[in-house]
Amino acid sequence: MIILQLTALDKVSKQEYEWELTPSELGDGGDESIRIKAIFEVNAMRNKQYDFKGKLYYNITMACDRCLEDFSRPFEEDVHFILKKDFEGDELDIIPFNDLTCDITDFVRDIVLTSVPMKNLCKRTCKGLCEKCGKNLNQGACNCKKQEE
Ligand SMILES: [Zn+2]
Ligand SMILES: [Zn+2]
Repeated sequence: MIILQLTALDKVSKQEYEWELTPSELGDGGDESIRIKAIFEVNAMRNKQYDFKGKLYYNITMACDRCLEDFSRPFEEDVHFILKKDFEGDELDIIPFNDLTCDITDFVRDIVLTSVPMKNLCKRTCKGLCEKCGKNLNQGACNCKKQEE
């Protein structure tokens, strides 16, 4: 769970957080947690509204669409959201709170999951797998190719 403690925030401040989303919170069928580093500039109107503007940094391990190897890719996402006391409405970037803590797990999870592109290559020049023998051609040529030549 990612819980923001609002008690310590006042006026303008720079805040750094280390968060973790567990596999069950991610709910994407994977079995790895994602560690997130967050850096925000916070504008606080004590007990009323907290404006968070900053970036999330994290790495996601995924499988290459071409060679099927797992690889880890760094992400850097701009984030801006507002915590508003007793807010009722459905603006996506306004999160209501009523106590001086706020659970933003779902909000952060949505940012992380939507940041993953549809197409994932371990590198732009990935050579993929041999159509005949299935060898990963990034690790060297296979014999099929030699026979053709
Ligand atoms: Zn690849
Ligand atoms: Zn081959």
